[in-house]
Amino acid sequence: MNRIPNRFCLRTLTIVLSLWSVSLSAAAKKLNLVTSTTDLAALAQEVGGDRVSVEAIAKGYQDPHFVEAKPSFLLKLRQADLLITVGLQLEIGWLPPLINQSGNPRIQIGGAGYLDASQFAEILEIPTGVVTRAMGDVHPLGNPHYWLDPDNGRRVARGIAGKLGELDPPDSAYFKQRFEDFDKRLTAAEQKWDAEMAPYRGRKIVTYHNSATNFAKHFHLDVIGYVEPRPGIPPTPSHTIELVGLMKRENCKLVLVEPYFDLKTPQSVGASTGAKVVVYLPSVGGEKQVTNYFELFDYDIELLKKAFQ
Ligand SMILES: [Zn+2]
Repeated sequence: MNRIPNRFCLRTLTIVLSLWSVSLSAAAKKLNLVTSTTDLAALAQEVGGDRVSVEAIAKGYQDPHFVEAKPSFLLKLRQADLLITVGLQLEIGWLPPLINQSGNPRIQIGGAGYLDASQFAEILEIPTGVVTRAMGDVHPLGNPHYWLDPDNGRRVARGIAGKLGELDPPDSAYFKQRFEDFDKRLTAAEQKWDAEMAPYRGRKIVTYHNSATNFAKHFHLDVIGYVEPRPGIPPTPSHTIELVGLMKRENCKLVLVEPYFDLKTPQSVGASTGAKVVVYLPSVGGEKQVTNYFELFDYDIELLKKAFQ
């Protein structure tokens, strides 16, 4: 009498248990990624899909050269399978002690779970000759703000996909496929962005810090100067006077400011030259609505179009 329902129950239980173990193994298989910045997190998420969990240490509205090291980051780093950094000493002021104190041998520099993304990117402004502190406080190995060129986004995404495949060989084809899909979407977006920016080729701009160099190269803008006298050095009155003179001579009508800098000097430069002062986003998450790599360019290009019109 009871055999049929019992067998039914047993089979149901078996199915439930096997589904549970499948979902458990899928969850267990997820690679635990930590990135120094939101942009790297966005690229890692594009290629990692549902096989990774990704968390960035710096917020998109923070200055990535100077991040307050919270103890909660240590726990995340302790459990990480992979740490992805921008490199070129962008994070030198805050990340090395966190890596040391994490006690995680995988993510130590040179470890299998440490990936310096700068190796994949085209790097601009690499200093030649002897580098001294007089050249500024940051960027001794070249400009680390390379992710603002979509071609570098593509290169870094390809590099991350390769690394994920090394760490999780059974899913390497999945990561490769995810990269190819990202590459297609990025190529289509780039054509749209290039067309939108084409009317403004050669426009002269000034930026606070030299974080838009790769962006300017890709979209053919001409960065003629910086509010900072040197990278990482706060504005000085003499430099600001020189900058105002330069902008007047060159008829430069736009100053771009990263969200983490004081607007006082840029606004006085704007008042003296008639230039617009616009806060642009160097990173994903700089504003709430900018949640991925594509939305970052959408946002900044919209901003520039308005500013140039
Ligand atoms: Zn910088």
